[in-house]
Amino acid sequence: MAEPAAARLTIDLDAVAHNFQVLAAEAADAEAAPVVKADGYGLGAVAVARRLWAEGARSFFVARIAEGEALRAGLGRDRAATIYVLDGFSGQAGARLDAASLTPVLHSVPQIAAAAAWAAGSRRPLKVALHVDTGMNRQGLTPEEALALAQGRSGFPSLDVDLVMSHLGSGTSPDDPRNPAQLTRFMEVRPEFPDARASLAASAGAFLGKAYRFDLIRPGISLYGGGPFEQPDARLKSVATLTAPILDIRHLRPGDIVGYGSSIRLDRPARVAVVAAGYADGVIRAAKAGGYGWLDDAKRPLLVVNMDLTVIDIGDADAAIGQPVELLGRHAQLDDLAAAAGTVAHEVLVRLSRRAERSYLGEID
Ligand SMILES: *Cc1c(COP(=O)(O)O)cnc(C)c1O
Repeated sequence: MAEPAAARLTIDLDAVAHNFQVLAAEAADAEAAPVVKADGYGLGAVAVARRLWAEGARSFFVARIAEGEALRAGLGRDRAATIYVLDGFSGQAGARLDAASLTPVLHSVPQIAAAAAWAAGSRRPLKVALHVDTGMNRQGLTPEEALALAQGRSGFPSLDVDLVMSHLGSGTSPDDPRNPAQLTRFMEVRPEFPDARASLAASAGAFLGKAYRFDLIRPGISLYGGGPFEQPDARLKSVATLTAPILDIRHLRPGDIVGYGSSIRLDRPARVAVVAAGYADGVIRAAKAGGYGWLDDAKRPLLVVNMDLTVIDIGDADAAIGQPVELLGRHAQLDDLAAAAGTVAHEVLVRLSRRAERSYLGEID
């Protein structure tokens, strides 16, 4: 057999670089600051960040402190990027943030108090970002808390506020009135921090027009090939490609029941391929309803997704044992699979597992 019987995951750093340049062009005068949380959406934060540093990125966002520490170590001291940690500051965080030169994104009054106390103890100002909740109701200071802070009523001179940011709850729905409502609230807070940069947009917000871009955009998913509006976007290139070889080709008859349970009962003859990948490799089980693989230049419906095996309906495709089927990539599109599975592209990517053999295309730098 020509191909090894294993799923392969290829991560195309040239495509990441292309997508970054698309976003940077869309950002115009604003800085495009890649979000590489969750190990770069599962695709390798250090590889992605090193490549994007070479492309001109100078600020990055992670969620957890440990992600920031790993990124700092991976970038090396000569790449003096600003690394923002969305989790912010907790009691024990000061020394770790300091050691790895990480910038916490503070999102509550207790976090601000803890950061200020730590900075006062270390006798030098601490660079921080502030997250203001403008209507997503997930994380961030209320606009009133932010205004009170800015006006010094709860003044913390030990903090050097470098960035004031907020996050859109409905950016992927461009016509949702929640977007302009959040924008208006952000614009009320932003002038109170004249020395700080401002940021509102993630991938989706970056495409909502100039008003949403401020000084810095924080794209994540669109760097990794996901369309900003949860559908494939021709401007972006596919980054992650999952392929797996055909193990067997079978001819099934009307009335045959495929796989576990009896929900897939054929009402017609079918030619199916059994492919060597399953949800243990990151093929989402729920994607069988409407999801597809790509073989012989056509979409081939997923019938069954099990842990190690996926059965697809290959019709009259030209197919042979050992031949690879694309389960995610340029043709089996990320946003289509996410939609079929009732999820978002972000979840599809972070579920790609370590079992699939990984390789990178393009220069890491
Ligand atoms: C995850 C995240 C982003 C990136 O969002 P995408 O939809 O992946 O572009 C930006 N900002 C914040 C606060 C986030 O949590």
